[in-house]
Amino acid sequence: MTDEIIRVALDTPLRRTFDYLRDPDAAAGIAGQRVRVPFGRQEKIGLIVSIESHSELEKSKLKRISSYIDEQPTLDSALLALLRWAADYYHHPLGEVIATALPKLLREGAALHESRFAWGLTTTGEAALRDGEPKRAPQQRALLERLARDPSGAPEDDLADWPRWRDHARSLRDRGWIERRELPPLRATNPSSEPREALAHPGSDTPAITVPQPTADQQAALDAVIASGDQGYRAWLLQGITGSGKTEVYLRLAERQLQAGRRVLILVPEIGLTPQLVGRFAKRFARTPLAVLHSGLTDTQRLEAWRRTQDGSARLVLGTRSAVFAPIPDLGLIVVDEEHDASFKQQEGGFRYSARDLALVRAQQLDIPILLGSATPSLESLHNVTLGRFQHLSLPRRAGNAQPPTLKLIDLRAEHVHAGLSTTAATTIEKHLADQGQVLVYINRRGYAPTLACTACGWVAPCLSCDARLTVYRQAARLRCHHCGADRELPRQCPQCGYAVKTVGQGTERIEESLAETFHGIGIARLDRDVVRRQDELEAVVSRIASGDARILVGTQMIAKGHDFPDVTLVVVLNADQGLFSTDFRAAERLAQTIVQVAGRAGRGDRRGEVLIQTEYPEHPLLRGLLEGGYEAFASAALAERESAAWPPFARLAALRASATRADWATDFLAAARRAAPKAHLRLLGPAPAAMAKRAGRFHAQLLVESADRAALHRFLDRWVPVVETLPEVRRVRWALDVDPLELF
Ligand code: ADP
Ligand code: ZN
Ligand code: ZN
Repeated sequence: MTDEIIRVALDTPLRRTFDYLRDPDAAAGIAGQRVRVPFGRQEKIGLIVSIESHSELEKSKLKRISSYIDEQPTLDSALLALLRWAADYYHHPLGEVIATALPKLLREGAALHESRFAWGLTTTGEAALRDGEPKRAPQQRALLERLARDPSGAPEDDLADWPRWRDHARSLRDRGWIERRELPPLRATNPSSEPREALAHPGSDTPAITVPQPTADQQAALDAVIASGDQGYRAWLLQGITGSGKTEVYLRLAERQLQAGRRVLILVPEIGLTPQLVGRFAKRFARTPLAVLHSGLTDTQRLEAWRRTQDGSARLVLGTRSAVFAPIPDLGLIVVDEEHDASFKQQEGGFRYSARDLALVRAQQLDIPILLGSATPSLESLHNVTLGRFQHLSLPRRAGNAQPPTLKLIDLRAEHVHAGLSTTAATTIEKHLADQGQVLVYINRRGYAPTLACTACGWVAPCLSCDARLTVYRQAARLRCHHCGADRELPRQCPQCGYAVKTVGQGTERIEESLAETFHGIGIARLDRDVVRRQDELEAVVSRIASGDARILVGTQMIAKGHDFPDVTLVVVLNADQGLFSTDFRAAERLAQTIVQVAGRAGRGDRRGEVLIQTEYPEHPLLRGLLEGGYEAFASAALAERESAAWPPFARLAALRASATRADWATDFLAAARRAAPKAHLRLLGPAPAAMAKRAGRFHAQLLVESADRAALHRFLDRWVPVVETLPEVRRVRWALDVDPLELF
């Protein structure tokens, strides 16, 4: 019998797949289907990657699969092809790559399609309801009343928020008053069987919203995309200044695909920071089912959103990084918003992928268009435009009446500075407040102050687990480490000599405090990761600004992302200097992007905005270039610099990273890896300890591989990685390969 070998990917660090025998009495497997298989002494859940007729192992040695988890494949062949590509490109085990693409509950064996149950009243239950039963159990009574409201029963999903409903339901059922009923499946599992009328004119069903007439620039961008056809691979880079209406272009292109019955994937950097974008899509396509996938979902919510995506019921999928793996049938268009954003790159753990780059591969494999949008495109993407790989679209003007803001540098050396704020900045804030404007104050540091120091002996509060200082939190009276989470009491005196301690430098908390002293009676809000631990808190801050209750917003780069606050007329960048002199070759690019993005928050309404940038280096060419020539001028200068230094995008990098509880273990491992490297025409740099070598009690180091040629780099990695993972030194370290690393240290 042929085709009886089932090749399975399992979530293990082993770089291989596993062959099993098919059960002759059961159906033959399908690639993409989940199976339970014996593995050692356990049973594991895996995914069928192919059905084969031969195995390299002897048949007598192969075990039989235990069972199929569901009848249909979990992942279709197109998505499997993308995951295979990713496993190859990032040199990572396929089983772990597949695991990244699946919600946790599916990895643990949850069914692919939910079976839906509802609870409803029996005839005796209805009588009991009329008699006011159960009289002594008000919570059961309340549930009985709740269930009575749905004549066909209340779906279990709708009861999820009801406190301890299962306990109450059990008591009610034991008395014969309620029963559990299976509901028919909600939606067709075959997307093409949906009625076409439901798809027609998805945007035009909500008369309440006015759809703006495209500007000439928007129309030109739309025409270019439309002229090339709605199908077929094409990569577009939509470079539009903040406020130019990029989202309107996404909306219109999405609408065309939806009308043609295809689905659309929109990738965004961090969903928590872009509630407005989700809101705009939801509002514009009010009757189009939408799924949102991001890291803030509970496991159950994620499974639910994933199922609605996989079965085709969601037609518009919005999500962060890992949504690039969302299973979307009939995908017609991918949009990557803020494509330069570093959060598209997974920088932790074993599988370090770029969602933007994989989105491009996915579009290519599916032969569909993809649109990357940004006010400040990555140098990689601009370079791809030069190479002709991407088509450039530009929105150089703001939509509506808004004017671009004016930028000005403030020389901190020539100014009186109080608590981080120069006199010029303070008086300008006052003026804008008097003119009924709102003000954003950007500082790239959270907490009260970055340092606690002794006034006598020079002691500074160090983190014991990291090469870092502890950040002062004054309201909470704590010292905290931003790298390992260490959290200690704030000392009143120097633990070394007993003299007084003082805080040095500023963070958001301190700036908020000093602004409150200076601008008495003005509402001030703060936005940083300490404030916004939860989604509802973020929404609370955003709505305080939107309602005008707060007139000044202090925050980290979180204030730069995606918000559209029309009354903000002034943006103050407190300190632009971190990043001007970094060892990381990408630091300048990130600084320029942050400044332009933060500045873009000013003057989005009718009034022209103003931006003040405080610096001790007003002559620095990067700042001057940005001011005089804008992001374009910066980008072309930076690209020239990258070319002469042979940095990406003019070279390809991979970083082998290692950490260990002893510094020499990490570097020994990397040195051994370097010695074991096959001969090849490329450069190996290092091993070198990280700039912050010690983090959370572990010592970090890296070895860089640089090649002018991508194919050569990958041929090298193909041969090297299997050697690296069998080095004897590997047992003392945690290591990861980072292909196309974003951050070097
Ligand atoms: P971007 O995403 O490029 O920063 P947005 O899409 O948020 O810009 O648009 C900025 C503002 O301009 C929004 O308030 C939006 O409603 C408005 N806008 C966009 N396109 C138009 C248009 N064609 N006519 C009028 N207003 C528009
Ligand atoms: Zn001291
Ligand atoms: Zn620490």
